[in-house]
Amino acid sequence: MSQSLNGKVALVTGASRGIGRAIAKTLAAEGALVAVHFGGSKSKADEAVAGIKAAGGDAFAIQADLALLDGPDTLFRSLDIELEKRTGSNKFDILVNNAGIAPFGTLEQLSATDFDKLTNVNIRAVYFVSQHASERLRDGGRVINLSSAVTRVGVPSGLAYSASKGWVDSFTRSLAGHLAPRNITVNAIAPGVIKTDMSDPMLAGGPDFILGKQALKRIGQPEDIAQLTLALIGTGGAWTTGQVIDASGGSGISF
Ligand code: NAP
Repeated sequence: MSQSLNGKVALVTGASRGIGRAIAKTLAAEGALVAVHFGGSKSKADEAVAGIKAAGGDAFAIQADLALLDGPDTLFRSLDIELEKRTGSNKFDILVNNAGIAPFGTLEQLSATDFDKLTNVNIRAVYFVSQHASERLRDGGRVINLSSAVTRVGVPSGLAYSASKGWVDSFTRSLAGHLAPRNITVNAIAPGVIKTDMSDPMLAGGPDFILGKQALKRIGQPEDIAQLTLALIGTGGAWTTGQVIDASGGSGISF
């Protein structure tokens, strides 16, 4: 096993399932100690940690509901305790803002309650998790935010979701400028459809609709995003900051 992240500490939000879990597994396989954050899926988070440990890596789970206003505070209260216990410090090196929800609905369909939950998880938590993280990230650190390829096109059936990811793109550029003096890079990854619980409704009718829009003719997997995350976190990503990097198998690149 190569250990390019040996001695590094990472926080991955929403790592109990899907893309976040794959990122946590990949970073741990490279030697990072990984905080596997989860909201409601404790058994899935425990399973993710057990899988990492069985493969020779190190990780621990921490819970915080990021739909709640005090979610980011709760997360960092636990993270500080767990990191102090394991490393003697609450500092870390890598933040992956991955947790997200996609309650689809047209302008008329999405309720105010669902809108508030969406913005709390996809926007507010990204902001305040980053604020807490900034105090703890070591110089030379890395931040990766999960955006989406839907920001490039109009999505009438999910306009609040796609707009929330447009906020992530803008936030990424501004945060990159803010953290550059500390040599911390900040980039966003914009996946197309990736096979997870979130994309189940989109793939329910079969893959043809999605494949028809992509240049590469397979459905993206969480590991595709995990490998790109690793590339940006590694030394190869040192000169890239403030960018939104498409990871959609060439979705919409040609007529
Ligand atoms: P997923 O399979 O639905 O997993 C979502 C993760 O976010 C879970 O670990 C979940 O944790 C966590 N989460 C959701 N609500 C939370 C809350 N209130 N508090 C704390 N954690 C919460 O989603 P995914 O497909 O892996 O998506 C990961 C990221 O990639 C998201 O930001 C998503 O918008 C983005 N993305 C996904 C796709 C795709 O096609 N899958 C495409 C573009 C972008 P619990 O279950 O423990 O609550």
